Amino acid sequence: MSDRRPAEPTVTEPKAPQGVLFIVSAPSGAGKTSLVKALLERDAMLHLAVSCTTRAPRRGEVDGVHYHFIDEPEFLRRIAADAFIEHAEVFGNRYGTTAAAVHEVLGRGDDLLLEIDWQGARQVRARWPGAVGIFILPPSLAVLEERLRGRGQDEDAVIAGRMARARDELSHYGEYDYLVVNDDFEQAVATLAALVIAERHRREPQEVRLSGLLGELASTAPD
Ligand code: 5GP
Repeated sequence: MSDRRPAEPTVTEPKAPQGVLFIVSAPSGAGKTSLVKALLERDAMLHLAVSCTTRAPRRGEVDGVHYHFIDEPEFLRRIAADAFIEHAEVFGNRYGTTAAAVHEVLGRGDDLLLEIDWQGARQVRARWPGAVGIFILPPSLAVLEERLRGRGQDEDAVIAGRMARARDELSHYGEYDYLVVNDDFEQAVATLAALVIAERHRREPQEVRLSGLLGELASTAPD
């Protein structure tokens, strides 16, 4: 006896458009910020969420563009008000993603990218199971160390601390859907762009976006 079940009936009720939520994480030194910047320049439908942080702005960083810079009491007030979809402490500072911004962008059918650490990524996946996780890897530990040294004159102990934190972040790559090595920068950007386009074309969100076309095509199909 076959235990085959009849095909699931097609869901016909109209749904609101919903963009794709991308999470990009990487150890510091993997080149994540530059890759994300180049990716956003290529793709007008993809937006970057501006996080809140308690850390001080670095030179050149603009409030509301790179981060919303807020103080500790304000951050705690927002946690209490459940204003964050996720928040975490990274290197002694607090970081969080505002829930309202996420809902606003995805709700109008655009895609949103969160540049967050592994702790935040876990929280987002728990609340948003459809989120797509991408982890950026350096091509080798030697290259990572070279990038973390940069042109600075930092002491070995400082570099060792940065390497330890990078290894900690790296140990979580298994929690992500895609791994992208940032060896050749242009190639890595092209790979990220391809992933975004592929995820955007999954059948379920496409059925919502293309409901008009699909309805029209179905009406002309033979019985
Ligand atoms: P930075 O201070 O160098 O800009 O970022 C330090 C780390 O915090 C990076 O790994 C970055 O991805 C992470 N980060 C930035 N914004 C957020 C956020 O909103 N939530 C979480 N969980 N991590 C974040």
